[in-house]
Amino acid sequence: MVEVLLSGLQLYCPACKNPLRNVEGGVYCSFCNIKYPRLLDILDLRYPRPEVSKLEQSQIDEMTKGFASLSFDELLQVFLREAQLSKRVVKDTLNYYRTQTERAEKMVGMFFSRYQEFYGSFSTDYALDVGCGSGGGSVALAKRCKEVVGIDSHLSQLILAKKFIEQSDIRNIRLVCAYAQCLPFGKESFGFAQGINVMEHIEDMAGAIIGEIWRCLESGGGFAADSRNRFDIFLPEPHSGIRFLGFLPRRWIPGFVRQITGNHYEHTRLLSYREIEAVLAGCFNEYRVVLPYISAYGRPARMDRWVRAFEHCGILNRILLCFFSAHLALARKH
Ligand SMILES: [Zn+2]
Repeated sequence: MVEVLLSGLQLYCPACKNPLRNVEGGVYCSFCNIKYPRLLDILDLRYPRPEVSKLEQSQIDEMTKGFASLSFDELLQVFLREAQLSKRVVKDTLNYYRTQTERAEKMVGMFFSRYQEFYGSFSTDYALDVGCGSGGGSVALAKRCKEVVGIDSHLSQLILAKKFIEQSDIRNIRLVCAYAQCLPFGKESFGFAQGINVMEHIEDMAGAIIGEIWRCLESGGGFAADSRNRFDIFLPEPHSGIRFLGFLPRRWIPGFVRQITGNHYEHTRLLSYREIEAVLAGCFNEYRVVLPYISAYGRPARMDRWVRAFEHCGILNRILLCFFSAHLALARKH
């Protein structure tokens, strides 16, 4: 039997794009001879198949075993335990997750209103949340769309998301573990796709990922994503806390961050205004990079009025875009 994620939304092999068959414990591609497993009703459609470390596997096992009895906060403690973070970082991280509803609601609200301001309406029947993490953005999207699919490359994040969605009493979200550069959906499956805090973690895959999102969008479908600016002059770099970090040559950045903070920085690559435009231009012929609502980042709403005033001042707007803290990428498929 062919695997259907939702009525009207079929799943395809991420490797060869042929339909997947439902088998015991997962789905199967007879062309590639790959069985993709299912865990807690989450299909793991990552391709190429990931190498899971022992530590990661034991964490996933513990979260799976305790899933029914543990709350979101308790699962989160299991998730953070292995990360060997300082007490302060754990406290900040717990707080970050607990406030995700509020932040995601503002962000998705901004995506919708700014997108409609430039491109008008789109179909809200099927929406895709790329890099959905622990589910905040998917829940906010599910309040505005009929059916939502959240994908993420981390299974442990999706287990958290599943709990978060259950606790939010939302029923129109499906979760799939997948890489955004190999989406397991057919072409023109979605009317809208979003990415929250994703653009800075796609490294050199940006072109492939935007290409896959474009393929899965229907004609007239929309894409919106926020992106912290590499050349931000107003705020410290969000992952390291270091000001003006993006002005260093790229190859120096990971080593510099490790020296100052002791943390890894290999999987973060903030895009500049020019870079994000170039990524969108690779696939979409209708796109723009605009200033976001800074209220979506928790700043006072009155500050948005000043920013808005710049938007009508051609060259000043472009200069501000080069050095502003964040960008909003919008694109529409013809
Ligand atoms: Zn296949």
